Formats: sequence, structure tokens, C-alpha cells
Amino acid sequence: MDFSQVDFTPEQLALESEIREIIEANWTPNYAHIAVDHDRMPVKVRMEFAKRGLLHPDLPKDQGGAGLGELELEMIAGIADEYWMPTNVSNSMLIPTLEKHGSAWLKEHVLPGIRRGEITTCLGYSEPDNGSDIAAATTKAVQDGDTWVINGQKMWTTWGNESDYVFLLARTGAVEEKHRTLTMFLVPMDTPGVEATPVWILGGGRTNVTFYTDVTVSDQYRIGPVNEGWNVMSEPLATEHGAGVETQGVAPVNGTMGQTFSRVFEKFVDASIKWAASRKTADGKSRLEDPITRMAIAEAMLDLEMCWNAEGELGKPMSAEALSRNADRMADIAAPEGLLDFGVDGSIYAGNIASERQHAPGTSVYGGTTEIYRNNLARRLGLPRPY
Ligand SMILES: Cc1cc2nc3c(=O)[nH]c(=O)nc-3n(C[C@H](O)[C@H](O)[C@H](O)COP(=O)(O)OP(=O)(O)OC[C@H]3O[C@@H](n4cnc5c(N)ncnc54)[C@H](O)[C@@H]3O)c2cc1C
Repeated sequence: MDFSQVDFTPEQLALESEIREIIEANWTPNYAHIAVDHDRMPVKVRMEFAKRGLLHPDLPKDQGGAGLGELELEMIAGIADEYWMPTNVSNSMLIPTLEKHGSAWLKEHVLPGIRRGEITTCLGYSEPDNGSDIAAATTKAVQDGDTWVINGQKMWTTWGNESDYVFLLARTGAVEEKHRTLTMFLVPMDTPGVEATPVWILGGGRTNVTFYTDVTVSDQYRIGPVNEGWNVMSEPLATEHGAGVETQGVAPVNGTMGQTFSRVFEKFVDASIKWAASRKTADGKSRLEDPITRMAIAEAMLDLEMCWNAEGELGKPMSAEALSRNADRMADIAAPEGLLDFGVDGSIYAGNIASERQHAPGTSVYGGTTEIYRNNLARRLGLPRPY
């Protein structure tokens, strides 16, 4: 992100120095953290940020935030990128959900810890047979007095192996009732019967299959009324999709997926330019002067500019598709060295081109597939259903 046109106030410049000091004191730039959207902020940085309200910097100060505006949020994200530092803390979109629907117990004992970054969460929506069609969930929660007994299996529970709680979608009535018999829970991951086993994804990241076997939790862990889970889940889901956030034009630290992917995309474009500038063609010219390479980089830059400006729900499918298209093309142009991974002799700029080629296809799946986003966008535009 180019801030050269912006005149920062003395307060903003002081914030910039503060952020840099915290990161430099607590984090060694790690080029393996290329897929910044799947790694969590290093714990030491998280604790320092938390003390200053910078974990959820847009929240008001009396809610544990720093009351900062969009420019400051973008500045924090930009500095983190410079240091190749992941910024994911947890699922910050759950904070308003817990404020609105959480039990008094959750609000007192769990919500403050989530705000401070001490308690982390993961999302338990998808199941082996129900990904896009989340409302077909079969993981069952059966009430037994003041407790619930949960049995089932969730698929792709990212961070399930390193979170304190899972925001779990469970069936509390007949499956045929679909949206009308779902209930949300915040289940502690250390409850007996919860198990997370790894699923390794292209590009090197980890997600999980999570199993729930006779998991017994108190009713205090229920979020919202019984059978109202679809309504409770809809808000954080919409926020994740970029439909419920008002500031998509500029990326907050824990912003929409489209903006997060644009940040990843920007690193990739940067790596491509650095590679081309450092290589020569057979006739001794810079690869930047080679028409095919030049055209590919120019198109990637144009795509990136469009992605930065794609608001709300449009951002995610656009940036996922643009990243995949450009990563494939650039890997071809930079082959064979463009296919070498991070750490391998001769790999380019921390293996960024190779790793993006592997990481990019997943961006059109997780958080909802591109087809589902297209369906949602079409519905919002008032287009007729295809079936
Ligand atoms: C790396 C990774 C991390 C993830 N992290 C999480 C997580 O933390 N928590 C979580 O709950 N889930 C997570 N997911 C799950 C993700 O949200 C689902 O994979 C996604 O919603 C698609 O579901 P599915 O894989 O079951 O595919 P399916 O729903 O079976 O879809 C298969 C294909 O059919 C298409 N399709 C399906 N329905 C329609 C339709 N109505 N119209 C048009 N096309 C359709 C899809 O677009 C896709 O191409 C993650 C997935 C991945 C890959």
C-alpha cells in the first residue's frame, strides 16, 4: 500500500513508530508466513497490542479497543505486511455476536478475554457432507436438564487445534426443518470428547477435522435462543463475507476476506516485479523489458488495483479469481525457478510465486466458494434463481 500521498498527523506518526517498535522487539520477519490469511499473530506481539487496545483497534476505548479510524487500521495492516507478520487474532466478528446474543455467563467470563486477545476461537460450521449448504448440518445437540450433549463431526475447522473455543453450529431438532432447528454454542475445545485432527492444505497450511463425541456442556455456552441459530450465525457470516461491514473500501486489520486476499495478492505482485527486475533474457535485457513478462505484470497490477477497490461481497470472489489466474500465469513465466518453494535453493523471493500458485486455489473455496458468492450477489441484484 502506497502511503506517500498521505500527510500523517503527529499522532499517526507516533502510532506508526509505536507499531514498528512493538513488531521489531517481538517478531523476526518470517518469509514462510506468506499465506498471511491462515496464520495467527505471534503471541508476544498480540499481548503488546492488547495492552494498547490495538488488537481490535476500531473498537471504542471503553470496549478494549483504541477507537482508531480506517487510515490507522490500514497503516497497521501495511506495517505488518512489511514485516511479513500475520495479523489474524481470532474471529473478531464474534465479538458483536456475543454482545448481542451471548449468555450473561459468556459475556462475563469469555467475551472480555476475546477482546483482549487472550481467548481464541474457531468456526465450526462446515461438515463432511454439508459445506456450502451449511443449514443441512447434522451435528446434534440434545438437551439433558441444564446441559447439552453434542455428537457429530465438523470439517475444515481452521485453528481448531489452537483455539480455546469453537463457535459451533448444531442441530437441535429434525434435520428436515433445516434453518428452523439450528442452535449456536461456544464450546470449550478442552471439553472431553472434542478432538481435532490435521488436514494439510496446498501451500503448507493446516486446517482440521473436529470430532464431537458425547461432548457435554452447560446451557451457559448456548448463544441465542434454541432453534434460532441461523439468525445468530447470519451476522458473523455476513461480516465474513464482507456484506455486513461498512468499511470495505479500506481494509481493517481483521477486515473482509477480499481485502485480506488483496494484501496477499500485493505481496505476490511485488515478488513478481522483484523477480523480473533481477533476471535477464537471453539477449541480456532485463526481464522487465520482455513483452510477455511485462504484460503479465501489468495485468496483475491492474487486477490488484480493481481488487483493492472491490467493495463488500464482491471483493472475495474477485481477488480469489485474480490471485489464482495471475499466480498460474506468473509461475509459468518464471518456471522452472518460479516453481521452487520457500527454503529450496534458487527459489524466488521466499518462494512467493510458487507458494501463491499452491495457496491461491483455496481462496476460492474457504469462507464460501466463488459460486456461492455469485449466487448471493445475484440475489442482492434481484436476479431470478437459476432453479
Ligand atoms: C482451507 C480451508 C479452510 C476452511 N476453514 C473453515 C473453517 O474454519 N470453518 C468452517 O466451518 N469451514 C471452513 N472451510 C470450509 C469451506 O467454507 C467449505 O469448504 C466451503 O463452504 C465449500 O463447501 P464444501 O467443501 O463442502 O463444497 P461443496 O459445498 O460440496 O461444493 C462443491 C462444489 O459445488 C459448488 N456448489 C455447491 N452448492 C452450490 C450452489 N448452490 N450453487 C452453485 N454451486 C454450488 C461449489 O461452489 C463447489 O464448487 C474451510 C475450507 C478450506 C478449503
